[in-house]
Amino acid sequence: MKSQDGAERNRKELIVYDAIIIGGGPAGLQAALTLGRMHRRTLLLDSGAYRNATVRHAHNLLTNDGRDPAELRRIARTEIAAYDTVQIRDALASAVERDGDAVTVTVDDERLRTHAVILATGMADELPPIPGLAERWGDTVANCPFCHGHEFAGRPVAVVNASPHAAVLVRMLEPVASAVHVVDPADVREVVDAPTGLRLVRTAGDPLDVAGAFVAPTWRPRGDLLGRIGVEFQETGAVRTDPSGRTSVEGVYAVGDIAHPDHLPGPMFSLAAAILGGQLAAVAVVHSLAAS
Ligand SMILES: Cc1cc2nc3c(=O)[nH]c(=O)nc-3n(C[C@H](O)[C@H](O)[C@H](O)COP(=O)(O)OP(=O)(O)OC[C@H]3O[C@@H](n4cnc5c(N)ncnc54)[C@H](O)[C@@H]3O)c2cc1C
Repeated sequence: MKSQDGAERNRKELIVYDAIIIGGGPAGLQAALTLGRMHRRTLLLDSGAYRNATVRHAHNLLTNDGRDPAELRRIARTEIAAYDTVQIRDALASAVERDGDAVTVTVDDERLRTHAVILATGMADELPPIPGLAERWGDTVANCPFCHGHEFAGRPVAVVNASPHAAVLVRMLEPVASAVHVVDPADVREVVDAPTGLRLVRTAGDPLDVAGAFVAPTWRPRGDLLGRIGVEFQETGAVRTDPSGRTSVEGVYAVGDIAHPDHLPGPMFSLAAAILGGQLAAVAVVHSLAAS
């Protein structure tokens, strides 16, 4: 057994939590479930701003294909409530800092100490400036064909994207849709509802009626927490991590949409990937606690 002097022992006693998770989407909730099952003192903070907030039917998640994401979060919270070492607080974390052998998290007027922080704060999307898109985001306006593609099966769709990525998207959608129209965002004045699903009102020419449209939002990490922690970023704009979510700052993990592990081509924007990331980081935290 390692010998400890009094000062070190006192310092460890000041650590209130084994882990603080920032984010109550699928990544953070899965991390909380895993830590709860290992009886670790865990606090999850959730400011209530979810990337898929406008979505009523999420897809491509085994056993829950088509489920409302709000319902997924509700079920997750109910399941986590069975583990009494986990506390969930609907609050915004305003700072995360390394402090000696611990990490501190500021929430409201409190500074909380913890062995590890799991950042699961998600991304925010900025849509192309076309009137009508935001109201239909996650329904007849989508981004990811894996999430919202089959819903338009056998009907025409539009790819409202003039970037080189559009060609890949077109080929992905060809087996699903009856026709794939590529439209420059600059040529779309607005989108409105139509009997087919969606009408693209163009600046010139006839309107284009389709079942749905795929657009390319600009995404960035939600809030300003990450910039101040000092974690390293990848060129993609997501946080650089190892396969278990460890960032360049000791004791700070990043999971879900904000994480871009070195072994992947980019951040993986999906519920299943977020859940996997949350679980892997929680396992790494438990190993780290067991080794300390
Ligand atoms: C329109 C749309 C449709 C989608 N459809 C699908 C689909 O059908 N299937 C699929 O697999 N994926 C889908 N996705 C992707 C999926 O929603 C994300 O991959 C997933 O939500 C990422 O989970 P997350 O936990 O990383 O982040 P989020 O779910 O975005 O959660 C982030 C959490 O962090 C919290 N937070 C942020 N900052 C702070 C702070 N400072 N303090 C406290 N809390 C904070 C937020 O409040 C929130 O709780 C869709 C995405 C979009 C935009």
